[in-house]
Amino acid sequence: MENTLRISGLSNDSIVDGPGLRFVIFTQGCDMHCEGCHNPSTWDKNGGYLITFEEVLSKIAANPLLDGVTLSGGEPFLQARSLAELVRMFPKNLNIICYTGFTYEYLIENANKENGYKELLSVTDTLIDGEFIESEKDYNLDFKGSRNQRSIDVKASMENKKIILL
Ligand code: SF4
Repeated sequence: MENTLRISGLSNDSIVDGPGLRFVIFTQGCDMHCEGCHNPSTWDKNGGYLITFEEVLSKIAANPLLDGVTLSGGEPFLQARSLAELVRMFPKNLNIICYTGFTYEYLIENANKENGYKELLSVTDTLIDGEFIESEKDYNLDFKGSRNQRSIDVKASMENKKIILL
């Protein structure tokens, strides 16, 4: 459906999904099925519920203290085109963090017009990439679940055509 997202939930004011005060969109649907995933209820692509862009935008507008928006999951890149369109409507002062079970390299290599991977990357400031790996789990990592995951400066990486970590 146009101008809608399938989500498992929202958080209006999170301090655990990135730096500062953040609005979080938990998208619905994920094919990775990582062992030890904290949100298996987000796997079913037909689960969760639909929300309109308007509803998301009005909730964001209602909180002027926000520093940014985090796109989490589920797997945000399964709805990359819609998310990119929505993010382009956000106030420009908000920074965007996107979690993904895919690697940055996979997204760049497999980007095409239909899947919208590049569109979502191009509106993302920080990409936290890679599957959650139980044996690499570490509670001391900032905003990451396992040591294999990386915080990537997406704009610098796309410009330089190589991965620039934060
Ligand atoms: S990518 Fe994330 S949501 Fe998907 S199974 Fe792995 S930990 Fe869970």
